[in-house]
Amino acid sequence: MTAPAPRPEVLNIAPYVGGESDIPGRNRTIKLSSNEGAFGVPPGAQAAVVAAAAELHRYPDGGAAALRRAIGARFGLDPERIVCGNGSDELISHLCLAYGGHGRDIVMSAHGFLMYQIAGTYAGSRVVKVPERNLTADIDALLAAVSPATRVMFLANPNNPTGSLLPEAEVARLRAGLPPEVLLVLDAAYAEYVDRPDYDPGVKLVDAGDNTVMLRTFSKVFGLGGARVGWGYAPPAVIDVLNRVRGPFNVSAGGQAAAIAALAEPGWVEHGRAHNVEYRRVLTRGLEAAGIKVWPSEGNFVLADFATPERARAADAFLRSRGIIVRPVGGYGLPHCLRITVGTAEEVGQVIDAMTGFAAEAHG
Ligand SMILES: *Cc1c(COP(=O)(O)O)cnc(C)c1O
Repeated sequence: MTAPAPRPEVLNIAPYVGGESDIPGRNRTIKLSSNEGAFGVPPGAQAAVVAAAAELHRYPDGGAAALRRAIGARFGLDPERIVCGNGSDELISHLCLAYGGHGRDIVMSAHGFLMYQIAGTYAGSRVVKVPERNLTADIDALLAAVSPATRVMFLANPNNPTGSLLPEAEVARLRAGLPPEVLLVLDAAYAEYVDRPDYDPGVKLVDAGDNTVMLRTFSKVFGLGGARVGWGYAPPAVIDVLNRVRGPFNVSAGGQAAAIAALAEPGWVEHGRAHNVEYRRVLTRGLEAAGIKVWPSEGNFVLADFATPERARAADAFLRSRGIIVRPVGGYGLPHCLRITVGTAEEVGQVIDAMTGFAAEAHG
């Protein structure tokens, strides 16, 4: 007897390891391991989920029409060119399955978001990882990696876990250098946190052609990671493809209600962005003062570089002994680094205190 077997490449996928939430034996922890917004759930979104509970016997609107209208109004986009997903992760998977597959390569940068590799491998694609320069995607190297088999290129901008950003002109140069049949997926999960004038999340390139997609999420600044809502802005032909392959009711009723309410929460994004700009700087300077290298970040997290995997592991253990959970990033090829989410002012202070103590201990 032989047991059922998936396609061989499926067993080459290492399961995605999310940020940990608990430390055994501790009932209070500070979770800075998943880049969740610093301020919890928007109050209006919480109320909207409670209200939606009374209608949970009904299927949600499969087209998420009200949510797409709300997104369109907020960002000045045509709702017809928006598709919602069960998190942007779902849209990443469908893009890989629809445009990738056997003999259809997917290209990403070496330290790009791991879901591209997981979804691309699942689709049956060869996933090509392109070396970076200073932990930043290298446009020339990405272009050089394109072959006749390339069908999709993913670029997280800003990138997770490095925090690096490519300016608008560089992304435009990437698009211009790619063959028109290569779908460029710009993942702007952290767009709201960017504090630079030379940035575009991808809207202009989507509008300029028929081969670029922008992905966004409610999981970060909007504080709804648990609701699982993401969205894509794409040319009509790509929207048509995603609407054919996605689950008919892929975004739950509670998720749709929460996201609509989050968009309406007065000042929510402005507050989150302003806090992040200030405390990302505080966190960076505090870690640097403790002698730790910090890579420049445009997201709601920083990548702390401890030079060796041993020292990064020791720093992680030290933080955990103080109840602070951050994200080891060995799975991203960065075993000498830890990714630390920018939390509240108090949480940032506790990270700095802990890392200052860690550095003092190492030198003492
Ligand atoms: C957090 C994150 C996402 C969002 O995923 P969701 O499925 O929407 O929660 C997408 N891309 C990157 C690069 C991220 O860091």
